[in-house]
Amino acid sequence: MPLDADASYTCPYCGETNYVGVDPLAARRQSFIEDCPVCCSPIAFTVRIDGDGDALVEQAERAD
Ligand SMILES: [Zn+2]
Repeated sequence: MPLDADASYTCPYCGETNYVGVDPLAARRQSFIEDCPVCCSPIAFTVRIDGDGDALVEQAERAD
């Protein structure tokens, strides 16, 4: 199992597709806020870890 996983998402502010790094060992479902690397706006993520340790972004919403 990898130590971290990247999950793709589309930024709700600028529409760019990016990847966010997730620790698959931390929890099966994780919620956190991280700034978009393109437009620097805060995004509220909900990420799910599947049985293979892959991360999937369930939601990427505006957090402002
Ligand atoms: Zn953005």
